[in-house]
Amino acid sequence: MSNKVSVQVAVNVPLSMTFTYLADKPLPIGCRVRVPFRGGEQTGVVVDDQQSADVPAHKLKHVESCLDEIPPLPADFLELIRFTAQYYRHPIGQALFAALPGPLRRPQPARWPDERGWQLTLAAHDTEGPPPRQKARHALWHALAEPLSYQQAKVITPQAPALLKQWLAEGLVERVDAEPPLEIADGPVLNDEQAAAVEAVAGSFGQFTPWLLNGITGSGKTEVYLRLIERVLAAGQQVLVLVPEINLTPQLVERFARRFPATPLAALHSGLADGERLAGWLAAWRGSAGIVIGTRLAAFTPLARGGLIIVDEEHDGSFKQQDELRYHARDLAVWRARQAGVPIVLGSATPSLESVANVEAGRYRELSLTRRAHGAAALPTVRLIDIRRQKLLDGLAEPAIAALRKRVERKELSLVYVNRRGYAPVIACTECGWLSGCPHCSARLVWHVTDRRLHCHHCGYHEAPPRACPDCGNSDLKPMGQGTQRIEEALIALLPGARVLRIDRDTVGRKDAWEAIYRKVHGGEVDVLIGTQMLAKGHDFPALSLVLVLNADGGLYSADFRASERLFAQLSQVAGRAGRADTPGEVLVQTQWPEHPLYQALVAHDVAGFAAQQLAERREAGFPPAAFQVAVRADARTLEEASAFLDAAAALAEPPEGVTLAGPAPALMMRLANRERAHLLVESPQRVRLHTFLDDWLPLLAGLQQAHRQVRWSIDVDPQDF
Ligand code: ADP
Ligand code: ZN
Ligand code: ZN
Repeated sequence: MSNKVSVQVAVNVPLSMTFTYLADKPLPIGCRVRVPFRGGEQTGVVVDDQQSADVPAHKLKHVESCLDEIPPLPADFLELIRFTAQYYRHPIGQALFAALPGPLRRPQPARWPDERGWQLTLAAHDTEGPPPRQKARHALWHALAEPLSYQQAKVITPQAPALLKQWLAEGLVERVDAEPPLEIADGPVLNDEQAAAVEAVAGSFGQFTPWLLNGITGSGKTEVYLRLIERVLAAGQQVLVLVPEINLTPQLVERFARRFPATPLAALHSGLADGERLAGWLAAWRGSAGIVIGTRLAAFTPLARGGLIIVDEEHDGSFKQQDELRYHARDLAVWRARQAGVPIVLGSATPSLESVANVEAGRYRELSLTRRAHGAAALPTVRLIDIRRQKLLDGLAEPAIAALRKRVERKELSLVYVNRRGYAPVIACTECGWLSGCPHCSARLVWHVTDRRLHCHHCGYHEAPPRACPDCGNSDLKPMGQGTQRIEEALIALLPGARVLRIDRDTVGRKDAWEAIYRKVHGGEVDVLIGTQMLAKGHDFPALSLVLVLNADGGLYSADFRASERLFAQLSQVAGRAGRADTPGEVLVQTQWPEHPLYQALVAHDVAGFAAQQLAERREAGFPPAAFQVAVRADARTLEEASAFLDAAAALAEPPEGVTLAGPAPALMMRLANRERAHLLVESPQRVRLHTFLDDWLPLLAGLQQAHRQVRWSIDVDPQDF
């Protein structure tokens, strides 16, 4: 017994502990192992080698040797996982396995991918090679005179994988070790603001410095990233780039690959097959991929020699994972930059209020790009169409229809943007603008059809709706922000002969659907695009000359305090789609509230003014970023069951001064998949206080499950959606 050692192993189970095993010899921390677990077998990762005192050695199970030929998982990766598990209050094993690519979660050995290149053999040089009329083969053959990477070969022809295999078998090509050269294709000459931004960030290489790159749409942020990447690659280091949406990765990957044609690039997103994802992940960890680009999960990718982190569209809500391990990829990226001692660039045209507040507090440094980079492209003109005094035809105002007609006649592309987020309806007076507000806190009351009452989703207060407006007596009180239906049919009827294409979750669900849409749009086969949120993000549609925004008002007075911030970001983004090339753009917004500050800021392109006004409101109300929140979420068959659990949880709390509990309150989307959902909010202006309280309180909640068996519950740190 004495020559055995004990190791601590993290296993993919919902328990916030690690498990002790015995091994014949010390196992390195970070190595993957196969362990017996509750009668079965699990993959584990050695996270510590300390002897734990409370389990007698003869009761311990054995662990064999390490699974892999590759080295143990790096220490900085494990440190990141430890922080993530602790900060987001998630079981360490589950956090660890969520961050690993699929194949590494299974108990099979992994090896480094073969990253050697291909080159013609001497024997091949004596043969003629494919004739010129076989274009693709011919081009690949000639390119293979020099070593080519798999990726470079695939750029030459999609048939490359098959051809290389065949020629390898025929002895015409061989695998060669080749250090990829740094090739840089030409880019535009930077303008002063861009050049200043590049110099500033480059001046901080080698030290943790968070930068907010605040640049209007089309101001050349991506060009700034490219120049920074160039310098990082030249220094022999790697860049990690995070983007919010999987649909945006191919565009950006292509742009990066065109600029750095020889640099190995790992693209990591959920649309990849397991094997591809693993290969990219390992290439990043090993250091062979110079550029690593991916969606939120890529925030965990280990880097051998990371020199810079970039988060594009840093304000985007999709960086927050909404279930299981509820991490925020941007926030973790900042943590990683600090850990690695490298700069991080957070880029956006509409920075998050969190980042704006961090700039104000001196924690982040701001770089501004205030002009459009592309010579002729001016910012679009934004006009508001007041629909209070207008007859609407199927939801469309006369000036909007006329504007669309004009574009169709001129063969220009229009976009009809339908805001369709699941905003819970707030009751409003159509005469004086009165809104249902909570008497106990600064949140709005939301109309629930189920019990026909108004509910506060922050503190849980509810009441019957008033029969008439308490301010002006008008009896026409309506829920705001109802969906616009059948807009496609209406447009087809109103614009005879126009080619209308609707884009939503259904139409782009299939793989390659985006490419087909792109081809149609770029091929001039579309006059009017209809779309929702997903169109707002950075897709580059040239010759878009009109954007018509419908149904935006629902986001103005939502019960979710972040709704205005999101609406403004989306409208700015979608407006930014107009007039990017040489066609000046026009944006029309149909609204009942043309005097609202959000729309006024949009018309004036006043991003900073809007942020300042929002930030002041948040500070007044004590909402983030002026405070920190943690939500305890519960769901059950009925709201009563879920709330009873949360009440019991609240009863166990003894919050110290400066920490408050609010609720339980029903979730904005109260009913989901036959479960009813509620939450309890814990809030504090000080993050440390909040977390110290959680340390004491959360362990007590486990004891409640027994009495509330039907309730599922979870913790959401820094929640984004309610
Ligand atoms: P953003 O990322 O801020 O939306 P991009 O970097 O995509 O902006 O730039 C918008 C357009 O302007 C692109 O077509 C890009 O090639 C071009 N561009 C960027 N910087 C310059 C520059 N300095 N001179 C000319 N064109 C530029
Ligand atoms: Zn009124
Ligand atoms: Zn309230």
